[in-house]
Amino acid sequence: MKSIKNKQLITVLCEPGDETLAVHNPATGQLLGHIPTQSEAEIQQAIAKSHLAQRQWRQKTAKERAVLLHRWFTLMIENQDDLATLMTLEQGKPRKEAAGEVAYGASFIEWFAEEAKRTYGETLPSPFADRRLITIRQPVGVACIITPWNFPIAMLTRKAGPALAAGCTVVAKPASQTPLCAYAVAELAYEAGIPRDVLQLVTHPSARAVGDIFCTSPLVRKISFTGSTQVGRQLMAQCADSVKRLSLELGGNAPFIVFEDAEIEKAVQGAVASKYRNAGQTCVCANRIFVQRGVYETFVSQLAKAVQQLKVGNGLDEGVAIGPVIDASAKAKINRLMHDAISHGARLVTGGEDREGLFVSPAVLADVRPEMAIAQEEVFGPIAPVICFDDEETLLTLANDTIFGLAAYFYSRDIGRIWRVAEALEYGMVGINEGMISTEVAPFGGVKQSGFGREGGRQGIDEYLDIKYLCMGGL
Ligand code: ADP
Repeated sequence: MKSIKNKQLITVLCEPGDETLAVHNPATGQLLGHIPTQSEAEIQQAIAKSHLAQRQWRQKTAKERAVLLHRWFTLMIENQDDLATLMTLEQGKPRKEAAGEVAYGASFIEWFAEEAKRTYGETLPSPFADRRLITIRQPVGVACIITPWNFPIAMLTRKAGPALAAGCTVVAKPASQTPLCAYAVAELAYEAGIPRDVLQLVTHPSARAVGDIFCTSPLVRKISFTGSTQVGRQLMAQCADSVKRLSLELGGNAPFIVFEDAEIEKAVQGAVASKYRNAGQTCVCANRIFVQRGVYETFVSQLAKAVQQLKVGNGLDEGVAIGPVIDASAKAKINRLMHDAISHGARLVTGGEDREGLFVSPAVLADVRPEMAIAQEEVFGPIAPVICFDDEETLLTLANDTIFGLAAYFYSRDIGRIWRVAEALEYGMVGINEGMISTEVAPFGGVKQSGFGREGGRQGIDEYLDIKYLCMGGL
């Protein structure tokens, strides 16, 4: 990196005698380094500092905050290569995908630097001759952020970007598997001039203990979490006592639907992008691929052919499309779901061989039925379960038959069907003839037990603003 070297970062951050957290490379098992952990008292202190710092941070104009955020964005882009390498080392995704995530992550900083300048209030037509009614929007306060390992940079910036832009201060807990990326990005924020107390990272051996502190501290006004539905439910319950504002981006069970009138080649490309990116470890990954009977066999064989081209290996190696999965329990879950489906009659069309370490062969499973565990649970791995369907109505019932409602995708060229299906899918986001839908300009988020709140888009900053109504009388 221009300003901080990966190795230096690790040494600089760790004072001798600190409690530390070991970070490993999932591709090789190699120990990458240690980062310090904080005690519970230190995490409470971090929140107290954040609370104090917010008084000054909120006094800055949006434009002053935007100057710092723009510098942070520029530093991230200047360090894109090194951040990408660090990400591949600790998270495993192919280097090119990692570079894509750095750019995607940085884009939220740039976007919200600008959006903060447009947090307009309103003048309301008054029903009283002697009163004027106005709304203003103000930062919520201290925002605590908990992020997962699958997008170690983008999940942090997608939350910290709007929070800081709005005038909130941030205390963030990165996932224990991937803290190095978070620390590297935070160092760049400090170099850009963002005060250390305005953006703090904390780590602790117990994620639950951090969650407890965040959710119960009276100084914290907002929790933003991306991760499993199970943990999201728990955080929501814990926030009830102090009635905190919450944004939850939780699990998904995305249907990917191919109708008979679709362009099959495009649908195959979309399925590969949506299913196999990040080795299938994204919450918007296609989890159930529904294909209409008339094109079923053609689609399955074309998908299998495309999947056979995907090279598995260390994400640092040229041409690798599928890196390792994050840990042994992720691999065990993927294998369990795949073998369960096969034992219940699914057909393994390609892949599925056992591999060493944390690598999983990308696979296509045909003749999956909706009631199989693989179609009910989030697979989070490079296995595509394909289900055959006959008509649109039955398909919609099946597609919506889940507690989740994050992303859905479908391929069709019939304009009537496009509107019908897009409106009927009970999901927060729908890709129509497109498998990659994420961008900083659009609101990302789910419905049902996939959570609530939106990240990105002009809506993303609302999560960190309160509306205040002013009634001016005595005119
Ligand atoms: P994943 O399957 O992606 O690891 P988790 O929900 O377990 O999903 O983890 C997402 C983030 O939530 C990580 O930063 C993790 O450390 C944190 N986490 C896990 N359990 C808890 C908890 N009980 N309270 C607060 N945070 C938690």
